[in-house]
This record gives sequence, C-alpha cells and structure tokens, in this order.
Amino acid sequence: MSCLFCRIVAGEIPASKVHEDERLIAFKDVNPQAPMHVLIVPRQEIAGVASVPESGDHQFLLNAAKTIAEQLGLANGYRIVINQGLDAGQTVDHLHAHLIGGRKLRWPPG
Ligand code: AMP
Repeated sequence: MSCLFCRIVAGEIPASKVHEDERLIAFKDVNPQAPMHVLIVPRQEIAGVASVPESGDHQFLLNAAKTIAEQLGLANGYRIVINQGLDAGQTVDHLHAHLIGGRKLRWPPG
C-alpha cells in the first residue's frame, strides 16, 4: 500500500484541497496549529529533505507557497516548516511543507 500522502495525491483519500497543479497539491492539515495550516505536497514521492533528488517537483515548493499564501490572504506573514526525521517530529514520510499563518507566530519554535 502506498503512503498516506501518495493516496491523497492519487485522490484515493479525500482532503480539503486549496491548490493543485501538475507538480504539487496543497490541502488543509487535519490537526491545524494555527487558523490557517496547509500542507504543500509534491506529487513525486520523496521521503523527506534528506532524500531529495537534484531536481523534481520539490523545486517548485517555494513558488507554490508564495502563491497559496497570497490566495489565502496571509498578507501579515506566515511560516513554512519542513520536518525532517525523528528529532523534528516528522510523521509522514512523503515530503511536505507546512504553511502556517493567521496568527502571530512565536520564535523560536519548540
Ligand atoms: P509531519 O509531522 O511534519 O510529518 O506532518 C504531518 C502532518 O500531516 C501533521 O500535521 C498531521 O496533522 C497531518 N495529517 C495527517 N494525516 C492527514 C490527512 N489525512 N489530511 C490532512 N493532514 C493530515
């Protein structure tokens, strides 16, 4: 069986999509940490930052984040987070960026 986000990318599991194009999809996180919390997921299956190839769908992540943040009206700012591995708390082994906003965000993160 393919990974959870592979199944969302394939349309086998429903998600609350806010954006999709030929390289990436974005959908609302089921456990939001802020008023707006979206996951941006390359369609290509890559486990995480530690295994990104030199080129691929992940290269378009930042441009997608910018577009989606504009569409969601996050004019006051937002944060983009990618968790890699156990110490960062990565729970889904399909590369994804969290786009978080809609409130003042603390720094440093926990
Ligand atoms: P990470 O811990 O960085 O691997 O992030 C995985 C994220 O996926 C968590 O924030 C979860 O709340 C979120 N998540 C897990 N399952 C789903 C799902 N079916 N739809 C949307 N978000 C999900």
